[in-house]
Amino acid sequence: MALINCPECNKQVSEHAQTCPNCGFQIERYFYQKAREAKQKEQQETWNKKIAEREKQKQLRIKKFKKHKIKYILISVVSLALVVALIVGSVFLYNKLQTQIAIASCESK
Ligand SMILES: [Zn+2]
Repeated sequence: MALINCPECNKQVSEHAQTCPNCGFQIERYFYQKAREAKQKEQQETWNKKIAEREKQKQLRIKKFKKHKIKYILISVVSLALVVALIVGSVFLYNKLQTQIAIASCESK
């Protein structure tokens, strides 16, 4: 049987004692509440850590995005320009082809 010190009078009492035989302090309840508070604190800390980690990740993502923002914009602009060039080129080629067909049909007459 292990002995603990009473939190109130500091005398040694059994760890299984509900109350201190010396001063009547409610030891069991005291340690129960203490354990519960410690658990709650631990949960709170775990939660806080999780939130902090998530916030850190978010900040890192924003930082990363800001760092590559110009790159992203450039890629977008280049892609857009390529698409536009493709469309314009297709229309141009189509018109040229139509003209050649028209010329060919005129020449064959
Ligand atoms: Zn006591």
